[in-house]
Amino acid sequence: MKKIRQPIIAVLGHVDHGKTTLLDRIRNTNVASKEAGGITQHIGATEVPIDTIKQLAGPLIQLWKGEIRLPGLLFIDTPGHEAFTSLRARGGSLADLAVLIVDINEGFQPQTIESIEILRRNRTPFIVAANKIDRIKGWKVEEDEPFLVNIKKQDQRAQQELETKLWELIGKFYEMGFQANRFDRVQDFTRELAIVPISAKYGIGVPELLVLIAGLSQKYLEEKLKIEVEGPARGTILEVREELGLGTTIDVIIYDGTLHKDDTIVVGGKDKAIVTKIRALLKPKPLDEIRDPRFRFDQVDEVAAAAGIKIAAPGLEEALAGSPVIAARSEEEVEKARQEILSQIQSVVISTGKV
Ligand code: GDP
Repeated sequence: MKKIRQPIIAVLGHVDHGKTTLLDRIRNTNVASKEAGGITQHIGATEVPIDTIKQLAGPLIQLWKGEIRLPGLLFIDTPGHEAFTSLRARGGSLADLAVLIVDINEGFQPQTIESIEILRRNRTPFIVAANKIDRIKGWKVEEDEPFLVNIKKQDQRAQQELETKLWELIGKFYEMGFQANRFDRVQDFTRELAIVPISAKYGIGVPELLVLIAGLSQKYLEEKLKIEVEGPARGTILEVREELGLGTTIDVIIYDGTLHKDDTIVVGGKDKAIVTKIRALLKPKPLDEIRDPRFRFDQVDEVAAAAGIKIAAPGLEEALAGSPVIAARSEEEVEKARQEILSQIQSVVISTGKV
């Protein structure tokens, strides 16, 4: 059975431009209505269900004429481009889409340019969040307000200053070969980069940012996001971690198929492929239920893409962050996965010249 999975989203940009603040804001997004459901915490990732986005968006959802069929968005919690470049899936980037955050008052900085180059090299589609608009002189802050509502409350001078700063950004993007525009003035999202003015600190413009990510993913990535749910799982290791009482575990983002608790997995290590049997699949317990720090996780029987999950298994000491994890259900599948991982390790050795 095919289903459309959540797109995997990464946030990148220059240091101090607001990556962590934006992710925190998204994590704390909670709509008043209980039925809409809240944010789900995964290992290494945060899931925003589509109902939450629809609730936040209100009439904004009409930006997208068609129906949104995605189940939600999965944000990778680790910001920054070091993580982004090393997180790969099948030769491409693990992130299906990225948010490039730029402090609108500081404009382009070295890591902004680096980030753009990485995105271009990986052909990762992205949206620009022009952050810290609340710092514009005289800006009136209204928490969590859509930008298009908030902008109407600003006096002429503040509006003008925002325009000037936006045009500076648009000019910089133009120098790098991108046509960019404020999101509500974009005619064709395949040719123009959308810029959403936001305040990550106060949540202004975050509704539009989420709606735009969902809409663009739906419109342009749907084919890529269609997966065979019952197929063997594939994922990428975010982190290798020692856990009290569990030994060495790996935190993995699953981007294809379903992982079962009794699957055999083949995992990329420094110079070998590790074949091991899963001991436990673990997801974080809701924060308010953690009474003893030794029991911070709940066990699950299976997990379907896209999701972040902790895997406990013997022999993971030499697993390497950024490496693939492939589930295998037969001898042949194990061998195939082993070969695939070995040839990937080989190609990394050749391209970096490191042994
Ligand atoms: P990162 O290095 O990109 O992760 O940046 P942070 O999220 O740590 O933000 C750096 C600093 O900028 C922190 O002091 C934040 O509180 C501040 N900051 C982030 N977003 C905003 C914003 O929208 N408005 C204001 N005024 N400050 C912000």
